Amino acid sequence: MSKLQPVRGTHDLLPEDARRHRHIVDTGLRVSQRYGFGEIETPIFEFTDVFKRTLGEASDVVSKEMYTFTDRGGEELTLRPEGTASVCRALITGGLTQNLPAKFYYQGPMFRYERPQKGRMRQFHQIGIELLGAAEPQADIEVIACGADILDAIGVLSRTTLELNTLGDTDSRKAYRAALVEYFGDHRDALSEDSRRRLELNPLRILDSKDEGDRRLVEHAPSFDDYLNDYSRDFFAAVTAGLDALGVGYHRNTRLVRGLDYYCHTTFEFVTDALGAQGTVMAGGRYDGLVETMGGPAIPGVGWAAGIERLALLVEGVADPARPVAIVPVGAGSEIEALKLAHRLRRAGHAVEHGYSGNVGKRLKRASKVGARVALILGEDELARGAVQLRDLDAGTQDEAALDRIEESLARFR
Ligand code: ATP
Ligand code: MG
Repeated sequence: MSKLQPVRGTHDLLPEDARRHRHIVDTGLRVSQRYGFGEIETPIFEFTDVFKRTLGEASDVVSKEMYTFTDRGGEELTLRPEGTASVCRALITGGLTQNLPAKFYYQGPMFRYERPQKGRMRQFHQIGIELLGAAEPQADIEVIACGADILDAIGVLSRTTLELNTLGDTDSRKAYRAALVEYFGDHRDALSEDSRRRLELNPLRILDSKDEGDRRLVEHAPSFDDYLNDYSRDFFAAVTAGLDALGVGYHRNTRLVRGLDYYCHTTFEFVTDALGAQGTVMAGGRYDGLVETMGGPAIPGVGWAAGIERLALLVEGVADPARPVAIVPVGAGSEIEALKLAHRLRRAGHAVEHGYSGNVGKRLKRASKVGARVALILGEDELARGAVQLRDLDAGTQDEAALDRIEESLARFR
């Protein structure tokens, strides 16, 4: 056997972490359902082409982060690095393109071969929504508002800023692209190696570079605003007007581009300065060409994905689970009654902890340790009279209670 430790960049969700994740996932589902999104779950691996063709060969994800392997049957497969491409694939192969708009919420693990650090893992988790089949700015507004609502419901919205930009339509992007190629071409020697490669493949992505030298050049690069045509400008104005009307605050960031190739028009990120370098907690935008790129009909889309680990670092005070009732049998003769009572109370909806072993003192100690609110102490003599001792573990008081009416006695502790 090799080293007994988790694979680099992976981590276990121990119960405390799992509770935070569950809280985020459940809140995401609950809030997105109010907006009409329904849950979808796609496999964690797909044919490599699903990602390669859509995310763009020059994207960081495809060029260096994918977990790609050949299976025993010779198929080229990839562990999904993100959710949008899979959801669009499911829309097409599941025959859902006849019933639009289609609205999906998803959650689950994603895989990217990255350099592990705080908030950056090789197996991480996302929640996300996709709204397919609506080309109107109202869709962008709702998708962003839903994201903000979810962040609010988990208590982190006030610690984030919404950065908003537009990448315009294809024509606008073509014009801007030409301007960028000219500008960065003039400074070719000062660009990082990565960005020199991007200059040919996708110059917009230079705006997203994390390289110091690139960033200095980006500061003086032409602005997208000067290249937006009327349609793109109006579209973006409608989005911002909608956000204003809903009271969703944002900050215009003209340098914001997304890492993947399929985005157009609205792009946005909810960022925080509470997590150091990994400050983006939710990111998304419009991707009108994606479904067509995959070989489906021309179906517009808009959505976002949020990193659960990053959100979990921001979330404070997830509500504790319900406090259990502890069952404490005294003497071997009470064990069966204890099992039966625990069973009965669990079926009535109570969380019940059974001490399993030890004397009364030891079992009461364990009851406190697991956070029990009350303990039911089952002595043989009392049981013979149909009674148990009910101990209020917070108050330290104790009363006798009738065994057949124990649910009523417990009602005041719920
Ligand atoms: P970054 O710029 O941080 O690499 P990205 O542009 O690659 O992010 P997206 O593909 O937009 O990220 O994914 C959406 C969200 O998923 C991110 O904003 C982040 O919260 C989360 N995320 C992405 N990659 C990772 C990772 N390796 N570990 C943890 N969370 C991640
Ligand atoms: Mg990345």
